[in-house]
Amino acid sequence: MRPKRFLSLPVLAVLLLMMFVYYTTIFVFIDGSFDLQSSNGTFNAAIFTILASFAVFSFFVCVLSDPGHVPSSYVPDVEGQGSAKDNAERKKCDKCYGYKPPRTHHCRVCKKCVLKMDHHCLWINNCVGYWNYKPFFVFTSYATLASIHSMILFICSVFLMDIGSSSKVFYVMYGTMAIGLTTTLLTLFGWHVYLILHNMTTIEYYEGKRAKWLAMKSGQSYRHPFNISPYKNITSVLGPNMLKWLCPTAVSHLKEGVSFPTLRDSS
Ligand SMILES: [Zn+2]
Ligand SMILES: [Zn+2]
Repeated sequence: MRPKRFLSLPVLAVLLLMMFVYYTTIFVFIDGSFDLQSSNGTFNAAIFTILASFAVFSFFVCVLSDPGHVPSSYVPDVEGQGSAKDNAERKKCDKCYGYKPPRTHHCRVCKKCVLKMDHHCLWINNCVGYWNYKPFFVFTSYATLASIHSMILFICSVFLMDIGSSSKVFYVMYGTMAIGLTTTLLTLFGWHVYLILHNMTTIEYYEGKRAKWLAMKSGQSYRHPFNISPYKNITSVLGPNMLKWLCPTAVSHLKEGVSFPTLRDSS
């Protein structure tokens, strides 16, 4: 747990933005169009509060959790051509001099090797890696759902409420912000659904593009080695129990994160 990670401007900006969207959705859009006391108002406020609470909780988990560090006892399996010592040396990080398990990358911001590193995320002031990839994905899911719900409530209030000329500027500015936010979240969510279905990290996607190009040049084909089957790819990230897929702390299916099944193992 690293509570100091909250002392960062982008993290505080995300928290402020979430509070602002929550407040305006409940007290301006829902209360204005349906009245919070009505059944319709209470129902929408309850749904939105649940989505927003899960989003905030997952966000805290992302910020506070360890993205995954290499265990000090880790020694790579040395197989294949060349001398075993040479192969082992090639698997060392040239910055922190420790061994690098497969899919591990060195993060220049965190100044350490991160297991199954996806990317360093400014908005959570933390790396997204093996241990917190699920909470990160769950956060984007809840945030996307909440922002779509808020957008619908915003549109309802535009049609149902009598907006005075003094509020028009606020509505135009809020609408622009809400469209930008919802589009960004939907894109991020879609991108990570694609990555999960293919068992890829963002880094591996770009590495794979290069590997494909190199393979094509020499008349061969390249397939991402960890892409086993869509269902197995999903359960390796979200867990075997579908009921816990959207629970950010249900990560008991995660192992050490130093080895991963590949196509070769399953064939
Ligand atoms: Zn390193
Ligand atoms: Zn990092």
